[in-house]
Amino acid sequence: MTATILVTGGAGYIGSHTCVELLQKDYDVIVLDNLSNSSPEALRRVEKITGKSVTFVEGDVRDRNILRELFGRYTFDSVIHFAGLKAVGESCQIPLDYYDNNVSGTVILAQEMAAHGVFNLVFSSSATVYGDPASLPIREDFPLSATNPYGRSKLIIEEILGDLYKSDNRWNVALLRYFNPAGAHKSGLIGEDPNDIPNNLMPYISQVAIGLREKLSIFGSDYPTEDGTGVRDYIHVVDLAKGHACAIEKLRTGCGLKAWNLGVGNGHSVLQMVAAFEKASEKPVPYQLVERRPGDIAACWADPALAKQDLNWVAEKGLTEIMADAWRWQSTNPKGYRD
Ligand code: NAD
Ligand code: UDP
Repeated sequence: MTATILVTGGAGYIGSHTCVELLQKDYDVIVLDNLSNSSPEALRRVEKITGKSVTFVEGDVRDRNILRELFGRYTFDSVIHFAGLKAVGESCQIPLDYYDNNVSGTVILAQEMAAHGVFNLVFSSSATVYGDPASLPIREDFPLSATNPYGRSKLIIEEILGDLYKSDNRWNVALLRYFNPAGAHKSGLIGEDPNDIPNNLMPYISQVAIGLREKLSIFGSDYPTEDGTGVRDYIHVVDLAKGHACAIEKLRTGCGLKAWNLGVGNGHSVLQMVAAFEKASEKPVPYQLVERRPGDIAACWADPALAKQDLNWVAEKGLTEIMADAWRWQSTNPKGYRD
């Protein structure tokens, strides 16, 4: 029997790639997305890649009426909850919007899940919950902290879901702590499509290479790293998407609540990323070295051993594939889904 998965935020960057993996594993997929940071075109492309259909419902995860309608109409095996706001800088400007969207959205979703007897949840958390780690690589049992409202919203949600599990052990919750998602589907049909000036490194580099922006500002060149620029664990978005399919399988075994790092296990500096992108695209990426960005840490990479042990998941794609796929997406869709 095929199982049906509700994917909130499924039209977004990670969500759309996860829909592809789920459909390819023969799950039925229902997407709930308010399109605040995405286009329905992404889901049409998901259907093109997979040859399967996605049921799309435009709506907000905080809208109980829509949730009740959905949970009444479908019997969901699990929910993957991507829907949320994700820009760190913006979260400092409009913190209440972040707490409302991310925290209230999750509370309302969990209430409606429980009311309808659905207890399997995959939650999009982030490596940001580790704050500035005392050592590397980062293990799941490291201390947690937050330095901005976005990160705090993720931390609060993790704690809320922990309380929920303690109160009712019918819940199975995978807290997936993503490191830095990058790249795109190899078809070149789906990828990251920021609405505005990108906050993140990879979409910014891509837009410089395609000529949409003049140059990259590299935030900080005096970090205690090999070349002075920040180091992160960049994980191919398709590997990340596969991690969600593995987590769903784990939830179905009745695993309770657990956190897993989804990362590669090694880091690359901003300058290494620029050089690798230039190589893949054969385009120059002009840059200037500027001040550190407030709140950034020097280096961050995962110990992904627990995900390997429990979920039988490892990241398989390296930097070369990330860059080739990111460039294919950017060069064939210079204006994203608006083309
Ligand atoms: P994204 O913005 O591309 O996707 C989020 C989707 O959720 C969008 O389609 C948006 O329209 C939708 N959405 C937002 N608020 C909603 C609401 N209230 N109701 C319904 N839909 C709503 O972002 P992404 O990069 O795909 O990230 C997905 C999740 O992963 C987010 O929760 C994000 O915080 C988390 N995450 C992302 C990264 C990253 O670097 N991309 C890293 C760690 C964690
Ligand atoms: N970065 C940069 N210029 C940019 C965007 C990011 O130098 O325009 C650096 C940032 O300081 C960090 C790395 O690139 O060292 C990754 O940043 P990103 O915002 O993509 O992810 P984060 O790890 O902050 O969540």
